Amino acid sequence: MLRNLTINQINRLLKRREASAVEITKDYLKRAKDLNKRINAIITLMEDYALTQAKEVDKLLDNDIEISPLAGVPLAVKDNILIEGEKCTAASKILENYIATYDATVIKKLKELKVIFLNKTNLDEFAMGSSTENSFFGPTKNPFDETRVPGGSSGGSAAAVALDMAVCALGSDTGGSIRQPAAFCGIVGLKPTYGRVSRYGLIAMASSLDQIGPLTKNVEDAEILFKAIAGKDKFDSTTVDEDIVLKNQRKIISIKDLKIGVPKEYFGKGLDADIEKLIKEKIKELEMMGAKVKEISLPYSSYALAVYYLLMPAEVSANLARFDGIRYGFSKICDKKSDDMSIKDIYFSSRTEGFGNETRRRIMLGTYVLSRGYYDAYYLKALRMRNLIKRDFDKAFDDIDLIITPTTPTPPFKIGEKINDPLKMYLEDIYTVPVNIAGLPAMSLPIGFVERDGNKLPVGLQIIAPPFCENLFFEIGKIIEKL
Ligand code: GLN
Repeated sequence: MLRNLTINQINRLLKRREASAVEITKDYLKRAKDLNKRINAIITLMEDYALTQAKEVDKLLDNDIEISPLAGVPLAVKDNILIEGEKCTAASKILENYIATYDATVIKKLKELKVIFLNKTNLDEFAMGSSTENSFFGPTKNPFDETRVPGGSSGGSAAAVALDMAVCALGSDTGGSIRQPAAFCGIVGLKPTYGRVSRYGLIAMASSLDQIGPLTKNVEDAEILFKAIAGKDKFDSTTVDEDIVLKNQRKIISIKDLKIGVPKEYFGKGLDADIEKLIKEKIKELEMMGAKVKEISLPYSSYALAVYYLLMPAEVSANLARFDGIRYGFSKICDKKSDDMSIKDIYFSSRTEGFGNETRRRIMLGTYVLSRGYYDAYYLKALRMRNLIKRDFDKAFDDIDLIITPTTPTPPFKIGEKINDPLKMYLEDIYTVPVNIAGLPAMSLPIGFVERDGNKLPVGLQIIAPPFCENLFFEIGKIIEKL
């Protein structure tokens, strides 16, 4: 069987009847199963479900019914997105055996297009982390060096796509969780503008920051998958009407019209020298093709990490209150005779045992930030700073079209290297969180490799666009891809 197929290649194979959807699905299932023993990218392999879907696609083809470009494409889904009747664990013990009772909107849309849901992928518990080490199901390995992390929290999705255990994947991005693992695994990752993709059926982490988006092998696939999941949804009141999107979109006729901003704050202390060199080379190449490149300043971005680690835990502590040992999943009621336990005991012991360390840390931080006496000093102050960070970007986009930065300050790090030092781990998010705080779209593209211990490790370049201008990623991304 052919490897590393793109969405359009699968579509062509199916239409010409050179392969059936069942054949393709079986091939991917086998590969996913084999590789997963080493990589641990998958929590649930949806074998029966995937084959049933594949048979439906073949039936359409047998009856000469026109299929969508995504029909029969094996997709990996991060295990915090609900598929009705399938397990959805968020990589947490507390949801270890939880079965979703409805489809997320993105899943519903893709079901109509006859996408094949192949597997549910590993993540940091409730999407909190930058390495996929915070998973109840154990860490995922980096495809380029199995002693290193694949990034996180969508590390399972990124590793699965990089190793062709699925054609493409869905992830979620609250502070970089699509872009950072995409960079660490050498693939494309797109975080849409806040409000472009419905969050209905995504297990909420921090609702004012969360977005679902694609992880793919190339820009064209990201475009196809993004367009299939985007759009207004009556179940998510923060989604935006298409006419607002169209009103805000910018058109670039040629690379010579393009004005790129390079923010000096994103090339400072802490950035790996090899990564800096690769990013700057790429910017130079774009300049040589005629793009205008300009140094800009986003002074408030230096507060973004602090703001993120106040606002995000506040929202996490509220969102995770529902996992109380009664309504969902793991419960200590089942352990002892429940009449011995007060309701407080049930909450306390179920949550203590059901949540991992990082999740508990963030719930505690969030509860603290929101408590009386600290609310004004921390939460409100962070909210004000959020506005200033956003205003910096708005101002910059008055005279540039795109911003280019590194996606991550370092190449993929070793498993175990940062897990006991939260501050070091949080610093991994330094270039990705400002985008979520400002609600902007951004994409990470693979642009080359650095060498560490004799292994080639991928490097990602981040493009940030004005709100609703994802179209620019597809135009410019394809140019950078050719370079
Ligand atoms: N690494 C970030 C965090 O731990 C991002 C998480 C995310 O985007 N879901 O919060």
